Amino acid sequence: MLTVGVDVGGTSVRAGVVDAYGAILDTAVAPTPSGEAPLEDAIVAEVKDLASRHQVTALGLAVAGFVTADRRGVRFAPHLAWRNADVAERISGRLGLPVVLEHDANAAALAEYRFGAARGTRVAALVALGTGIGGALLIDGEIFRGAYGVAPELGHLRVVPDGRPCPCGKRGCWERYCSGTALAATAVEMLARDPGCSTLLAREAAGDMRAVTGRKVAGAALDGDPLAQRAMDELAKWLGQGLALVADVYDPEVIVIGGGVSQSAPLFLDDARERYASLVTGAGHRPLARIRTAQLGDDAGIVGAASLAADLAGRRLNPR
Ligand SMILES: [Zn+2]
Repeated sequence: MLTVGVDVGGTSVRAGVVDAYGAILDTAVAPTPSGEAPLEDAIVAEVKDLASRHQVTALGLAVAGFVTADRRGVRFAPHLAWRNADVAERISGRLGLPVVLEHDANAAALAEYRFGAARGTRVAALVALGTGIGGALLIDGEIFRGAYGVAPELGHLRVVPDGRPCPCGKRGCWERYCSGTALAATAVEMLARDPGCSTLLAREAAGDMRAVTGRKVAGAALDGDPLAQRAMDELAKWLGQGLALVADVYDPEVIVIGGGVSQSAPLFLDDARERYASLVTGAGHRPLARIRTAQLGDDAGIVGAASLAADLAGRRLNPR
């Protein structure tokens, strides 16, 4: 049975035909349009294109935003046009396929749980280090959503009292220290404290700190830039601290580290693991959650959404 998963992100709409083993057989991609109707047109066009070449039975959308509890609508998505929109109803009507929605971090976590780094575990957490930090928790194959569908907001755990301000209104949130954005902020702070610094990164940033991105810092650290490496050490320290909190609360078998920053894992993960292992409650007297990097990369959202669509088609919850 083949289904389609679509990763509906702020910059692109990426669709893929996925088989029962989580393999992507075919893809379509387009930039994300800004209006509600054009966005739905783009999704419909991609799915029609794929459905012309493959026999597909259902559609799953991984959405960067808050999805309703019945997983048919979008309440709010900061980088997408939908506001309290009955997305599943409208797209299902146009395509004649059952449609299910899921928050993108949840969809990615489900894909890692069924096909990737968390396969074979019972309790698994996913920490996605990107622009911010996305979190997801899976228990016995089910995505844990909390009572009102917003859990778990791991990125806004406070790890640094009176730390950096966060757009959420608090200070010292985990994502202010361990996201790609945070990596750049740490490097900029270090450069500001050390105006005579002449490392590669310092020369590149000369005059314009906005040129410093998380990706650039990671690249410079890989090239041996000492300042970038210190910024990476900071990230590792706070990552270990936050992972210990996550393990204290959930006691998972595995914590999967995903998101763009995870591509630089060799630069920080061993240090983060060490710190995590020393800080977790009962350290030395309990089995520790394994900390692993995600396996499915950018495709996790597509695969997870398609896998949820396969559940839907199998259960025939929406036999439109
Ligand atoms: Zn916050």
